[in-house]
Amino acid sequence: MEDCIFCKIIKGEIPSEKVYEDDEILAFKDINPAAPIHILFIPKKHIESLIHMSKKDEALIGKIYSKINEVVEKLEITQNGFRVIVNCGKDAGQEVMHLHFHLLAGAKLGPKLV
Ligand code: 5GP
Ligand code: ZN
Repeated sequence: MEDCIFCKIIKGEIPSEKVYEDDEILAFKDINPAAPIHILFIPKKHIESLIHMSKKDEALIGKIYSKINEVVEKLEITQNGFRVIVNCGKDAGQEVMHLHFHLLAGAKLGPKLV
């Protein structure tokens, strides 16, 4: 997608602090962290939001969760815990229309909504 910020990050047109990368997934630090550890996990394939995923993407989304677990273990935050958030659409405040999973950790996190 031409004007998608995250596609530009994938292509290296916008710099990012990469945490993990393979042929299908990129993880990088959020530019405006909401917690001491704030990493975004994205599929390299442009999917606008969770509602735009198809049946064919099920394995990819599962793999993203596995990678989150791997990174969480590497960063040694399994003991203290962490939160994974996916904002979808305007009521959730999704700003970047490329599916992403926020990993938040490193401190007692803000109020739970659910
Ligand atoms: P959303 O509100 O769409 O769920 O989250 C978008 C996230 O992307 C925000 O936390 C924002 O700080 C982050 N973000 C937006 N632009 C950039 C960027 O150019 N680089 C990085 N690393 N993060 C970005
Ligand atoms: Zn994109």
